[in-house]
Amino acid sequence: MIITRQKKISEILDTIKTKNNVFLVGCTLCATVCKTGGEKELKNLAEFLKKEGKRVTGWVILDPACNLLQVKKLKRDRAKEIEASDIILSLACGGGTQAIAEIFDNKKVSPANDTLFQGEITELTLKKARFEEKCSLCGECLLDETAGMCPVSLCPKGLMNGPCGGVKNKKCEVSDELDCAWVLIYERLKKRNELEQIKKIRGPRDYSRLKKPQKLELK
Ligand code: SF4
Ligand code: SF4
Repeated sequence: MIITRQKKISEILDTIKTKNNVFLVGCTLCATVCKTGGEKELKNLAEFLKKEGKRVTGWVILDPACNLLQVKKLKRDRAKEIEASDIILSLACGGGTQAIAEIFDNKKVSPANDTLFQGEITELTLKKARFEEKCSLCGECLLDETAGMCPVSLCPKGLMNGPCGGVKNKKCEVSDELDCAWVLIYERLKKRNELEQIKKIRGPRDYSRLKKPQKLELK
């Protein structure tokens, strides 16, 4: 899941300070779970903007915002409201915001969220949510060798072999609050009777596999 966090309200206001008519777009998937782009957040932001003297021309929650086909449908279905807007404020992730900007290429489209990482949901209630980064989308997955834990994401140095000399009492030298990723990997490998994996010397990542922008076509 793509993890987003709403920008500070002062930043959002700064983005729209010269714009009066604002259309809001949310997303049914990740941004809804992150409580950054669901119905409640759109309604709250719309109310706030109205109090700030802005006119909210309309809002929609796309299913999802990163689907260009959904954004094209929005353009067809809500043409009048969007035409009457000076700006579209996206409460989706960076991918969703770019999809909106691509289809509405004659309109200012701005993000109301910062997109942080790809993560796992570790807690989710009506009041509280917690997410943790687990994968950095490296394009060359080695979870098979590391007992299903990702050193690229869990070790602050992204070390392919570890632990490094900074480990102390199983904690990482970068932060006392952080368990050393390679100690965790070691312990789970031991549990699985796969300790031979820790002896393997892994070479550097093949970053040529990460040429951007990436594309994938399924047939
Ligand atoms: S090795 Fe880590 S960063 Fe790379 S694909 Fe696997 S989980 Fe993601
Ligand atoms: S102590 Fe462990 S987690 Fe921290 S940088 Fe070294 S190997 Fe990575």
